[in-house]
Amino acid sequence: MARIGFIGLGNMGSGMAANMVKAGHEVFAFDLNSDAVKALEAKGAKAAQSLADAVRGAEAIVTMLPAGQHVRSVYEGDDGILQLAEHDAILMDCSTIDVESARAVAGEADKKQMAFVDAPVSGGVAAAEGGTLTFMVGGSQASFDKAKPFLDTMGKAVIRAGDAGAGQAAKICNNMLLAITMIGTCEAMNLAQKLGLDPQNFFNIASQASGQSWSLTSYCPVPGPVPAAPSNRDYKPGFAAPMMLKDLRLAMQAAERVDASTPLGQRAENLYSVFNESGGNQLDFSGIIKMLQGEIGQ
Ligand code: NAD
Repeated sequence: MARIGFIGLGNMGSGMAANMVKAGHEVFAFDLNSDAVKALEAKGAKAAQSLADAVRGAEAIVTMLPAGQHVRSVYEGDDGILQLAEHDAILMDCSTIDVESARAVAGEADKKQMAFVDAPVSGGVAAAEGGTLTFMVGGSQASFDKAKPFLDTMGKAVIRAGDAGAGQAAKICNNMLLAITMIGTCEAMNLAQKLGLDPQNFFNIASQASGQSWSLTSYCPVPGPVPAAPSNRDYKPGFAAPMMLKDLRLAMQAAERVDASTPLGQRAENLYSVFNESGGNQLDFSGIIKMLQGEIGQ
């Protein structure tokens, strides 16, 4: 059993922190939102009154925050984690943020000879609650080895992607691919229906043919073929469309910086931007099929 500081108890962090409690750790939970802290306290965590309260004395620290600026503000500065944490603590940022911010925090940690990894996750709220996330980890092998036992309590797979920032790089590349395959799956399903094919029948064919992908077989954007998919509950998230847009923007920023050609990624960003502005921001990212079907955004 270890003492853990957990910062950021939102949709994802609350389930992840609860799994650390279940694993027998003493979790000091902190969020700017005191209701989120109370909810975690009810699940057996200790309510930290401040960042310092959560971090001091902890062997391991997990952050699960919205974006790069939140992560930098929590780690850096005189009252940040790098100043407050025990020198031998393992620091794990599981937020999805830009590669530069992840590398900047890792660089500051390195100067202080503290162990830090970027460890963003794949899998949504259900995987966070069920402890079945996939972690993509950036950092030295030694930091990865120190982080892995803690990440194992929250996930089904913990994979080292490379050095600092590599976890974030893997995450945005994965999600750019996911956005592209989802839009492609929606287009194919929509065209199939307009050509008179039954969606279940087309699903049976494409899922056993070369059009097969995770977007089709695990997350089918038309109701019916995959009962657990958000398409069966009016596209209630799931993985919300604004989150996908955030990840695509991070991918496009990174692509521009390294001069990588990503024409489909750019188009996907554009389509998700229009989808979000047309009311899709309340829906799962697979709900973009409603835009292709002309139900929203026309
Ligand atoms: P969220 O907005 O629900 O939660 C973020 C929490 O951080 C909030 O409770 C907020 O009060 C807290 N917070 C912000 N600044 C803080 C600070 N300075 N100190 C303490 N607490 C602070 O977000 P989420 O859905 O839990 O996502 C968290 C991260 O995980 C994001 O980077 C997101 O991109 C990524 N992610 C989300 C999903 C998903 O399906 N929701 C899936 C994979 C990855």
